[in-house]
Amino acid sequence: MAKGMVRVPVREQDPKVRATNFEEVCLGYNQEEAMEEATRCLNCKNAKCIEGCPVSINIPAFVQEVKEGNIEEAYKIIGQSSALPAICGRVCPQESQCEGKCIRGIKGDPVSIGKLERFVADYALEHDIKPEGAKEQNGYKVAVIGSGPSGLTCAGDLAKMGYDVTVFEALHELGGVLVYGIPEFRLPKQKVVAKEIEKVKELGVKFETNVVIGKSTTIDQLIEEGFEAVFIGSGAGLPMFMGIPGENANEVFSANEYLTRSNLMKAFDSSYDTPIAAGKKVAVVGGGNVAMDAARTALRLGAEVHVVYRRSEAELPARVEEVYHAKEEGVIFDLLTNPKQINVDENGNVKSMTVIKMELGEPDASGRRRPVEIPGSEYDIDVDTVIMSLGTSPNPLISSTTKGLEVNRRKCIVAEEESGQTSKEGVYAGGDAVTGAATVILAMGAGKAGAKGIDEYLKNKEK
Ligand code: FAD
Ligand code: SF4
Repeated sequence: MAKGMVRVPVREQDPKVRATNFEEVCLGYNQEEAMEEATRCLNCKNAKCIEGCPVSINIPAFVQEVKEGNIEEAYKIIGQSSALPAICGRVCPQESQCEGKCIRGIKGDPVSIGKLERFVADYALEHDIKPEGAKEQNGYKVAVIGSGPSGLTCAGDLAKMGYDVTVFEALHELGGVLVYGIPEFRLPKQKVVAKEIEKVKELGVKFETNVVIGKSTTIDQLIEEGFEAVFIGSGAGLPMFMGIPGENANEVFSANEYLTRSNLMKAFDSSYDTPIAAGKKVAVVGGGNVAMDAARTALRLGAEVHVVYRRSEAELPARVEEVYHAKEEGVIFDLLTNPKQINVDENGNVKSMTVIKMELGEPDASGRRRPVEIPGSEYDIDVDTVIMSLGTSPNPLISSTTKGLEVNRRKCIVAEEESGQTSKEGVYAGGDAVTGAATVILAMGAGKAGAKGIDEYLKNKEK
């Protein structure tokens, strides 16, 4: 391809080396590389990339600043729309969002918007560039439930508007899926997540950990105690299972539990004594990003890992980059294959999994071709650990303890997309708790909408 059509390559750890460690896979751009990549941006008047960004970052404006070497200015532009750019630069599915719309992508590679965002955000963290806070406080108290990307964004935006915000988090650490789900090798916890949360604290947001809303206290009690509005960003952390025989054996995990043990409870670090099945042969059932994370974690813990997925490669829901990285590292893909039962030995330990071959039939309601079993094609695969990664749903604890809060049949909180307004006055919601498992940037977009909704509600209440 002609010069200018191809993006500046990003440096990565060698696949053979990184398959044995938990350090970050992608090393990112340095300033010289970022400035060179930024020259590929055409600074379009009608910039399609902005339309593809759920929080509408002014992409051409920040990329032009990078091109000129004004990185602090670039950070300020991103900061107007996103409180977590070092995180988004690493985990957003840019290929289907901003980069998917970039005009450069028609005849060559789209501009590496995600890697440029990451470079700018990392520069801001390294140089401790502060976000711009509120000019004055308005005295209103708002409670935010959950410290994942939706809660952090809502809290940060409200603090910038002058609200007195307290985030209540059930776990002992802040960050939601960013800390307990996404592994260190994709999203470093201390170097990136903790530092970016620090910036939300610098805006004046207060955090209370180990508070489970629905148990320690309830939303109705928070309102009685003087919180004038509440945002629920409690995510969708309840794992689903297949319901096949043998699924309750000892070495069968949900991907959430497996990843939490590794990420939050540091099972991968030999100086911690958190137990985790460091199996020799692991099957991960499912084909999404969570399955890729579980597979790559098990691989790093020393296992031979098979991803067992019932459709073909084209239908894998995981990001292309994650599948590519998993393959490069040595994860084996057993496609068009579905588990039938998990077989246990006399001690109740997993000894194998019976699977059946599948073929693709007519498209189903999702538009993807339906997988159909091929009769008589069952066989056993020799595994000692199974990780189920079949999706998650919201925990009903909050909805069942809050009067007048409507949920749908999937237990998701019903909320307006534009404002996050729920069926209960003064209570707003967004992120995975409303949509079911989705993405970081969609959760952030919902947090922004919730902050705007709460601001309008409280201003109107004042009148
Ligand atoms: P969460 O991040 O789930 O945060 C919810 C928070 O609320 C948690 O901290 C939880 O402890 C807290 N909470 C729950 N109930 C209560 C309660 N009763 N009281 C107080 N606190 C409570 N998305 C991407 O865009 N890119 C990726 O690469 C990607 N990879 C992923 C990998 C994994 C393993 C997983 C699990 C998800 C991944 N996602 C990815 C999805 C993304 O992380 C989520 O969509 C996003 O984190 C949702 O944000 P949230 O704020 O709605 O909820
Ligand atoms: Fe630059 Fe691509 Fe956005 Fe145009 S669409 S402004 S080339 S990033």
